[in-house]
Amino acid sequence: MLTIDGSKGEGGGQVLRTALALALVTRTPLRMVNIRAGREKPGLLRQHLTAVKAAEAVGAAEVSGAELGSRELTFEPRALAAGNYHFAVGSAGSATLVLQTVLPALLLAEGPSSLRLEGGTHNPAAPPFDFLAKAFLPLVQRMGPRVEATLERPGFFPAGGGRFRVDVHPAKLQPLDLPERGRVVRRAAVATVSGIPYDVARRELDTVGDILKLRPDELHPDELKRGIGPGNVLRVEVECEHVTEVFTAFGSRGRAAEHVAEEVAREAKQYLDAEVPVGEHLCDQLLLLLALARGGSFRTLPLDGHARTQIDTMAHFLDVKVSTREVSRGVHEVEVRG
Ligand code: ATP
Repeated sequence: MLTIDGSKGEGGGQVLRTALALALVTRTPLRMVNIRAGREKPGLLRQHLTAVKAAEAVGAAEVSGAELGSRELTFEPRALAAGNYHFAVGSAGSATLVLQTVLPALLLAEGPSSLRLEGGTHNPAAPPFDFLAKAFLPLVQRMGPRVEATLERPGFFPAGGGRFRVDVHPAKLQPLDLPERGRVVRRAAVATVSGIPYDVARRELDTVGDILKLRPDELHPDELKRGIGPGNVLRVEVECEHVTEVFTAFGSRGRAAEHVAEEVAREAKQYLDAEVPVGEHLCDQLLLLLALARGGSFRTLPLDGHARTQIDTMAHFLDVKVSTREVSRGVHEVEVRG
């Protein structure tokens, strides 16, 4: 049984999700200790527990330690079962992170799967649904499998109550090379408000538009009339010839709309200035796909702790070599070879 120490690297939920995902793919019995030891509230929170349960179902696994607050877990997958699944976090915890745990295995399964996921769809520190649909999944499709995601109802922290569907048609994962992003063909800033004043969206768009020099027709307020509020999300989409990136910041009580806008503008500007195809979040998520495809490369920003932790966790399960080098100031090339 492979033991993974969850306190290593970032010491957060990512180690758990990646370990579960790769235990499923490689059918490796796994013992996980010190789960999320680096976080203020360590152990399994509801979102992580749902991810464990989801992995248990997909892998027909024998599991011990799957309880709220648990810091230790054993996970022994027996099979990989494509099928129809319904996973509900039961709080505002991120449902997209539950998907992140089981999607790699389902991409490689024998048959198609259909998933209904419930919980948060737009959470801080998790891939927002729009990032998933517009940035991440199109790259998955380019590697072979067909994956369609449909948002049925957005769910924001702290109310939750979101819902989306994902249909997965597996195929062999082909290596992907993303050396450049090509021309910028579309930019958009979208300010979503649900159950909070419309003016917040306007102020966010004014500020982000000023900083990124966006045209009025690139600014889109999005007022949800039937959303489960309150919620406020500001995203910037940058569509290029070879890749689309989505940057997101979240409003919260007491936080000025202008600060939300400055945060997302800073992230988008750093990406635009560096002229790389892959931003910070896409980087750690793409790394896992390339490792499963046993090949590929991309240029990105300096690798952060999440990406480094991802590389270290992957190395326990897969015999792939990941090399990184700075090709010019602030531009790094990542290469994965199997
Ligand atoms: P936990 O709080 O559960 O311990 P963690 O520390 O592992 O979580 P992160 O690693 O920060 O959480 O993020 C989890 C995943 O969500 C990562 O794959 C990260 O790339 C992704 N993610 C976080 N924020 C965004 C964002 N704004 N856009 C896209 N993906 C994001």
